[in-house]
Amino acid sequence: MFRSLNSRLLLSYVAVIVVCLVLVGLGLLLFAGSLWTRETFWRLEAAAQATLLALRQAGPLETLPPEQLRAQVLKAAEEQELRVLVLDARRTVQFDSEKAWEGEQLKLDEVARTPVAPGRVRGAFLAPTGRRGGRWIFAGQVVARRGEGRQFILFASPRWRMWGWFAENLVPPLVRAGAVALVLSILLALLVSRSVAAPLQRVAAAAEAIARGEAGTRAPVSGPQEVRALASSFNTMADRVEAARQSQRDFVANVSHELKTPLTSIQGFSQALLDGTASTPETAARAARVVHEEAERMRRMVDELLTLARFDAGQMVMARDPVELGPLLRACVEKLAPQAQAAEVALELDVPDRLLVTGDADRLAQVLSNLLDNGVAHTPAGGSVAVAARRAGEGHFVEVTVTDTGRGIPADALPRIFERFYQVDKARRRSRGAGLGLAITKEIVEAHGGTITAESVVGLGSRFAVRLPPWEGEPTAAMGRQGNQ
Ligand code: ADP
Repeated sequence: MFRSLNSRLLLSYVAVIVVCLVLVGLGLLLFAGSLWTRETFWRLEAAAQATLLALRQAGPLETLPPEQLRAQVLKAAEEQELRVLVLDARRTVQFDSEKAWEGEQLKLDEVARTPVAPGRVRGAFLAPTGRRGGRWIFAGQVVARRGEGRQFILFASPRWRMWGWFAENLVPPLVRAGAVALVLSILLALLVSRSVAAPLQRVAAAAEAIARGEAGTRAPVSGPQEVRALASSFNTMADRVEAARQSQRDFVANVSHELKTPLTSIQGFSQALLDGTASTPETAARAARVVHEEAERMRRMVDELLTLARFDAGQMVMARDPVELGPLLRACVEKLAPQAQAAEVALELDVPDRLLVTGDADRLAQVLSNLLDNGVAHTPAGGSVAVAARRAGEGHFVEVTVTDTGRGIPADALPRIFERFYQVDKARRRSRGAGLGLAITKEIVEAHGGTITAESVVGLGSRFAVRLPPWEGEPTAAMGRQGNQ
């Protein structure tokens, strides 16, 4: 029933309007009660005085015959549509314009005898009979009558008349106000719900469009703040989903591409072995070596992919051991020495004693080997690759830098080198890499809570800086003897 925003808003507005009208009605009732009493007293008094004036014109009140008095009074009652009572001194009703109370005794609660006009009375009494019962208010005059003593001539009106008066005077304006408020609230509800619902519907439409495969669709950011926040969150999510899908597509394309080259080689050379094209022992050995190398390259790539997959799955757990950088860096440099020698690249190492970081020794060795390996591979003969480590950032981290004098990385490629499968120059790439080395390196460094950055000037060389958390388990002996670059 009240499913839509519009109808719910309307319902709540109507509830508010009804509550307001009831409150206003109650307040008016309290106020109007006294208003009615005052107005009625005034009317009763005016009627009484007018009647008395007429009576006095007919002759002195003291001696006016009772029948004449009653006839006059009855006439006044009919004219004024009021009840007129004539009471004797003991408050017994001697005459009632409606006949019902004659002979009854009334208990008058008199109020406000005005000293300026002696003899005037006003007040209230309880009706003596049940029919048309309840409280009445009255105004009138005490007169002295020869032979009958003091008499009260009272004009009376029942309190229940008040309700009729309310119905006549108060209810119509309240109803009109309610109607106006209702119309206004319908308009307001339409306006508010349109300003909220319409942008929401646009977000929903965008979601449906994406579900249909229109991946580029985005929700317009409009409407109230909350809806705008929803729309922009939705768009961010859509961007991420799109990016994830894109990287998935890229990934499949990259893997297929990287596998194609070695597979083509393997197929070609094994074919040569099979059909006897590689007939001499030398050509056969060469073909076998290529098959072996290409298989090795594929195995390496699969290993790297598996490592990345484990990072993605959050399965990669890094040890948090104290790792002394001196021996670790020395071992990495020594491992690469033959390769560097062959390439005629000098290796330099500058690391202070007892410089410790927190981490996983094997993984850190992998990081350094990879950076050194890249450095040597991209540095022409006669150049150098220098490794240096020092405490930095006021002792907050340890920085390891690998600086080469190689050909450098173009500025447009520099921000992308840590991406998976990214290779600066596909044509000139080294035979073994698939562009995964630096991606893995970055994953490892970040899993240590560290960072890796690269700077490079084409033609001059590159510098990779790895920042790692220092080992905090003991006083840092290496402080003050930091390595220089
Ligand atoms: P791979 O595993 O194929 O070596 P990496 O992820 O290690 O790939 O490197 C990505 C790209 O960055 C490579 O294509 C390489 O050209 C470039 N690169 C990496 N290190 C250096 C360096 N020291 N000097 C110049 N280029 C580099």
